Amino acid sequence: MIQLSIDGRNINAREGTPLVDVAHENGVYIPTLCYQKGKPCLGTCRVCTVKVGSAVVAGCTVPVAHGMQVEVNTPELVDMRKSLIESLFAEGTHNCPSCEKSGRCDLQAVGIELGMMVSRFEYRFTPRDKDYSAQRIMLERDRCIFCQRCVEWVRDEETGQKIFSIQGRGAQARIEINAELADKMSAEQVREAARLCPVGTIIDKSLGYNEPIGQRKYDLKSVREHALAGEQP
Ligand code: SF4
Repeated sequence: MIQLSIDGRNINAREGTPLVDVAHENGVYIPTLCYQKGKPCLGTCRVCTVKVGSAVVAGCTVPVAHGMQVEVNTPELVDMRKSLIESLFAEGTHNCPSCEKSGRCDLQAVGIELGMMVSRFEYRFTPRDKDYSAQRIMLERDRCIFCQRCVEWVRDEETGQKIFSIQGRGAQARIEINAELADKMSAEQVREAARLCPVGTIIDKSLGYNEPIGQRKYDLKSVREHALAGEQP
């Protein structure tokens, strides 16, 4: 066990545990999107930005060590994390009221948790074609936040090949699906891929709006409550 401080409070933790997990275990909420507990961190979204000493870092990428001094809830860091969420809403097209993932969407839930009402950035609504090529999966590409969860963790069960990939760069970047491999996925794998996507990009064609408003994941418990209970995301 080692000792570190978070926002001036001394905390005991197991050395090497991801900082976001230690914070959540001790009642300090740090928002995340690409991170999934128990899996290697991707560090792509930076929504878990905190300060360790004088360095601004992604909390999911930092294993805790003895003597670490961590700042999470300073006004500057709170606003920095909020601005990252606002930039994601400005970059893609997120029409929450009509989205199949609404009420179960991590981006929407974190936006609500951070008190976002509008984006301070100009909305771009970057147009990206939908992809219907796979039999059981549809891609609503303009919602993708390029977290890479699907790229890293959805694999062909026989060969281990990646089923999703990101092609292009900058404004031309888009998520692609290998339809041949996707058509070999079991119904359960398809559901898991749709669940894994933190927004409504990966859609299971066999399901739609199947959870009534009031009973969806984030209707029942906020993203903060999920995180502090160790259930995130
Ligand atoms: S499709 Fe979903 S899981 Fe895949 S990179 Fe985009 S947002 Fe992330």
